[in-house]
Amino acid sequence: MCGVVGILSTQKQVAGELYESLIHLQHRGQDAAGMMTYNKRFHEKKGTGYIRDIFDERNMARLQGQVGIGHTRYPTVGGFSIEEAQPVMTHVPYGISMAHNGNLVNYNTLVNEVYEQDHRLINSSVDIEVILHIFAHALDHPKSDDKDLSFFDQICRAVDTVFHRASGAYSVIGTIMNKGMVVFRDPHGIRPLVKGVRQNDDGTTDRIFASETTMFYALGFELDGNVAPGEVIYIEENGTVHSRILKNEQFTPCIFEYVYFARPDSIQNEISVYRSRLRMGQNLAKRWKEEYPKIVPDIVIPAPSTANTAALSFAHELGVRFSEGLYKNPFIGRTFIMPGQEIRKKSVRYKLVPQEFEIRDKTVLIVDDSIVRGNTSKEIVRMVREFGAKKVFFVSACPPVKFPCFYGVDMPTRGELAAAQRSVSEIEKYMGVDILMYQKIDDLVEAVTRRGEHNIDRPCMACLNGQYITGDIDEHIMDSMEQQRNHERSKHCLLYTSPSPRDRGCSRMPSSA
Ligand code: SF4
Repeated sequence: MCGVVGILSTQKQVAGELYESLIHLQHRGQDAAGMMTYNKRFHEKKGTGYIRDIFDERNMARLQGQVGIGHTRYPTVGGFSIEEAQPVMTHVPYGISMAHNGNLVNYNTLVNEVYEQDHRLINSSVDIEVILHIFAHALDHPKSDDKDLSFFDQICRAVDTVFHRASGAYSVIGTIMNKGMVVFRDPHGIRPLVKGVRQNDDGTTDRIFASETTMFYALGFELDGNVAPGEVIYIEENGTVHSRILKNEQFTPCIFEYVYFARPDSIQNEISVYRSRLRMGQNLAKRWKEEYPKIVPDIVIPAPSTANTAALSFAHELGVRFSEGLYKNPFIGRTFIMPGQEIRKKSVRYKLVPQEFEIRDKTVLIVDDSIVRGNTSKEIVRMVREFGAKKVFFVSACPPVKFPCFYGVDMPTRGELAAAQRSVSEIEKYMGVDILMYQKIDDLVEAVTRRGEHNIDRPCMACLNGQYITGDIDEHIMDSMEQQRNHERSKHCLLYTSPSPRDRGCSRMPSSA
């Protein structure tokens, strides 16, 4: 998972606003970040760690230009070095920079193809470099009947080539030197990409594209919908906008954005993330009342903080007191996106402290957004029991996560997923809870899609039901991707404790971004 943003202004320098935007996307990745702007030449700054530690007044002053893109990287496979940071660029043709959020399923094949057929070297292990070179090569090699095409038509041809060759999830923002900005989203629209506008005093319009709407209010942008699946948008430097839908497939945006990743104040695909989480809690509580009509807990506690919203509506629906019975230290990062299992295990107790007065001698129902590996949930249950709970019930706003994600989220192998090999009662036992209950898939889909002017066909739920929308992931491919991912992970655990240059071979799992 990553955060990506692009701003084109007809009036002012964009680096400051890109910085603000990345701060508002920090929750989508804390491994590395970068920014690239242009005015006559590209200016870039990349680094590892938090946004606030990478950019300072000196390097911000270098980032000149009224067009630029920024990126914050999610720490998973694919390396922790600065070479893996985005945006990336190529000099030919024109000078093009790009950043993205997503994963390519056929990355390994494409890396070899791009080198053998297009004679372009992929010099990192990030998917966007492959997309960039496919796009750049197509733009640089027009077909004979392309000569009279407008520049936008040439861009469409190049993006069409990307759609034709690249399988997976990708929301891409790029800039083309002295031309403007180009934006496109994969034909299934798996990863989010919103657009916003801001009117200037002189009647011109500034434009922003981003993974989430989280920075719109602070920067004075208004939501202008989403980049549609299979759509390409080109904005000239003078603000003229061209757009076209090149490929119309089933629209299947990631449901896990609503469950966990997106900030609650985001609006994705015309749906409020906050409201969808309220509805998840509501549906879950209705299910609880059906299955356990005689069991009413004393208090409902969220596993902070993504589950706060669902827990609130769950408690309301059940008529039970909502309690912040677990205090979360706000200065420690989200454990789900920290690299390495040992670090994740250790960090739970650093991060969460049970409040004894809220817990002792009570029957406690804990609401969590999801149970992925199960380690954090198990630790939470143990802590709540240590602080004197009489009984502990646990409900998950997300159904069992049984399959790996190959579209950009760090839930890599079935061996690590609590629900991949175990039944609900086995997980219940493993976690040490009196009752464990999961949301049903249909209830989750209903919660996400009940309201909003969206045109979602059905969200991607491959990690829940094993139905991969790109249609090119079978058991054999899954096995080999998981093996590679395990290999990458063990390598990166070493890298994390002892940083060293990363192997940059062609064979690797698609790198989350
Ligand atoms: Fe999202 Fe799951 Fe689909 Fe991955 S597999 S894109 S996490 S819904």
